Amino acid sequence: MLVHGGAGDVPDARIERHVGGCRAAAARAQAILAAGGSALDAAQAAVIVLEDDPVFNAGTGACLTAEGSLELDACVMEGEALRAGAVCALPPFKNPIAIARAVLEDGMHVLYAAGGARAFAERAGFSPADPASMITEAAREKLALALASGTVSGWAGGTVGAVARDVHGHVAAATSTGGMVGKRPGRVGDSPLVGAGTYADDRGGAASATGHGEGILRVALSATAVAALARAGAPEAVAREVIAGMQARVGATGGLILAGRDGRLGWARSTRTMTWAAEWDGGSEAGA
Ligand code: ASP
Repeated sequence: MLVHGGAGDVPDARIERHVGGCRAAAARAQAILAAGGSALDAAQAAVIVLEDDPVFNAGTGACLTAEGSLELDACVMEGEALRAGAVCALPPFKNPIAIARAVLEDGMHVLYAAGGARAFAERAGFSPADPASMITEAAREKLALALASGTVSGWAGGTVGAVARDVHGHVAAATSTGGMVGKRPGRVGDSPLVGAGTYADDRGGAASATGHGEGILRVALSATAVAALARAGAPEAVAREVIAGMQARVGATGGLILAGRDGRLGWARSTRTMTWAAEWDGGSEAGA
């Protein structure tokens, strides 16, 4: 299994902290996989650890809209039956990925937005969070800087995602984010959209993307990568190829993590950093 803590430009002094968060998430997921658990449970568990860690732009600590509010996006998908669940522009709830999972299990629809996502979550037994418990000082500072500069020039960094393959041979992917700092209310990025920020299909593998959402959306990055994996590509080569292809086609930068149907892992980024951590039977590795 492999997790990412977002493509971006994490200053060198803070890399260790971000990589540590990724390691903790990967370890939690690996414990599930080692006990025979599903890739879906493992990917969700990893993302919950990252949502709860305030240094990442997901769940607690997520970035703010231009109006200073939280609008959260998350998606989870499994590769056996291609079931998926997602929420977008969700008001504050502690773990958006758990709500996305409830959407997947409910099975009636794939994606709920804003007030409808809130209503679904409440019906499913989740309680809204006090915004003050999820909005960090760092998120407020980033918004103030973005507003002062007058442009929403980039993304926040720190989006989180996970891909996993289990002993049953099934793959799954999960992604969660606050999106871009100072985004216009109602803006939805790639992360919660099946095929853009998140995709899983046992015929190819699982993908979670991060980076410039508008670019990732326009090239359907995750579905494109999984289709390439299905044609027997090696994850690392595929990740590099689609990230380079996105840059060439729409001028967007970002990163991608992949788990192939055979369990091989790969990642690539065109940003300065993308923190990540991997765990497999008998080993682990992490970096930026
Ligand atoms: N892709 C995310 C979005 O555009 C941002 C990120 O990955 O940092 O919402």
